[in-house]
Amino acid sequence: MADYKTSLTGREEVCFATMSFNFEKPEGFQYKAGQHVDITLINPPETDEEGNTRTYTLSSAPFEEKLTITTRMRATAFKRSLKTVALGTEIELEGPSGSFRLHKDASKPAVFLAGGIGVTPFYSITKQATKDKQPHTIYLFYSDQKPEDAAFLKDLQNLEKENRNFKLIATMTRVKKDPSWQGETGHINIEMLKKHVPDPSTPIYYIAGPPRMVEAMQKMLVDGGIDEDNIRTEEFEGYD
Ligand SMILES: Cc1cc2nc3c(=O)[nH]c(=O)nc-3n(C[C@H](O)[C@H](O)[C@H](O)COP(=O)(O)OP(=O)(O)OC[C@H]3O[C@@H](n4cnc5c(N)ncnc54)[C@H](O)[C@@H]3O)c2cc1C
Repeated sequence: MADYKTSLTGREEVCFATMSFNFEKPEGFQYKAGQHVDITLINPPETDEEGNTRTYTLSSAPFEEKLTITTRMRATAFKRSLKTVALGTEIELEGPSGSFRLHKDASKPAVFLAGGIGVTPFYSITKQATKDKQPHTIYLFYSDQKPEDAAFLKDLQNLEKENRNFKLIATMTRVKKDPSWQGETGHINIEMLKKHVPDPSTPIYYIAGPPRMVEAMQKMLVDGGIDEDNIRTEEFEGYD
């Protein structure tokens, strides 16, 4: 894992209370879709006991020019600083790390289970798979509270139109009275999975999101008879 210096080149709100931050890709920096980095703020305007470093998955894909991370904006010193420092501010980047990457054997489908902002590795992997015309069948089960909370929902819907191997199953847990929502509702469960995945015993499963969601999904799969060897997880520590 290497250390790099980079600079903040842009930021934008991507959905409710969720922002993407763009960084210049440092010379020689290479990563695989789904990997993460440690971002350190150098002399930020404010700090707290959690310190100046956080881990983020790159929501950008390797073929894209810029590096992007995407996060839920909460009132922590780190995030307030990232939101207010001037564009061009120098930042330390360590990585990439992690093995949360699409498996090689395309005869096995991939099933992604995303909880909220846990969608970031799957967004990166799907963009790259679409660009590379990878033959894997990919199912993304994407659970959030409401469509306006779900980062990259529209982009993922567009990727589904572009990539016939990619199927998005978005499910919202708080839209019971919203007739404009046409997708699934409620938490991801084994019935929902079986409804959309023809043979649930064949895929490689990937789960990303808050630790409690990851634990619940893992249990759901194991209780549903999925071989533990075919389940990969990424816990977004720091979220309840
Ligand atoms: C491999 C990996 C990849 C990750 N990728 C991403 C990613 O792509 N995007 C992303 O957003 N995060 C990602 N995370 C999580 C990220 O590193 C941070 O932990 C997260 O963003 C929370 O940071 P924070 O500054 O909001 O809270 P921190 O200051 O780190 O505080 C965390 C603790 O304080 C509590 N807390 C703080 N503020 C609040 C609040 N307002 N309400 C409730 N509880 C609060 C939390 O429950 C938690 O226990 C990843 C983590 C890992 C390990």
